[in-house]
Amino acid sequence: EKVNFINFFHNIIDRFEMNKYEQDLSFVRRLPNKSYWVWIDKDKMTQVLDNVLSNAIKYSPEGGTITCKVEIKNKMLQVNVSDQGVGIPKEQVDRIFDRFYRVDKARSRKLGGTGLGLAIAREMIEAHDGRIWAESKEGKGTTIKITLPMMHQKRGDA
Ligand code: ATP
Ligand code: MG
Repeated sequence: EKVNFINFFHNIIDRFEMNKYEQDLSFVRRLPNKSYWVWIDKDKMTQVLDNVLSNAIKYSPEGGTITCKVEIKNKMLQVNVSDQGVGIPKEQVDRIFDRFYRVDKARSRKLGGTGLGLAIAREMIEAHDGRIWAESKEGKGTTIKITLPMMHQKRGDA
């Protein structure tokens, strides 16, 4: 269905911002103040963003900031979710999208989850003709980046 991604993403972040977490966390939004239209399955896209945001929260330190950003790059919508958490070792950063793959089994087990979230996310994003990948620095944080094709922007839609 046709969705204004900006409103859609604001609503998801609102829901996460209202929860209480073990750590003190702040959410920063860098979303443009206009409409960006995409053709998406809302339930599936909610599942993807829920997983990416819950991961960011799960691996954030006390006082951490989670930054959500949307911009247009090469005519694609690009969504970045960054945290200041433990990060992911360089040689494992692409493997986190594999089924059941979890960095540091002990740490991950304590934090819960099955290791399926990002594998499902990749499947869903690719079904939307987009891409999803991670950039990370150990000890500094992780950014998950998603691109999605944009719908033709009608004049006056902004
Ligand atoms: P599930 O999502 O199924 O509940 P999960 O969160 O462990 O379980 P994924 O979301 O697929 O599984 O993530 C896979 C692994 O990638 C995680 O176990 C974790 O080791 C690593 N990971 C994912 N996001 C982050 C992040 N923001 N910071 C650090 N590590 C991460
Ligand atoms: Mg997860």
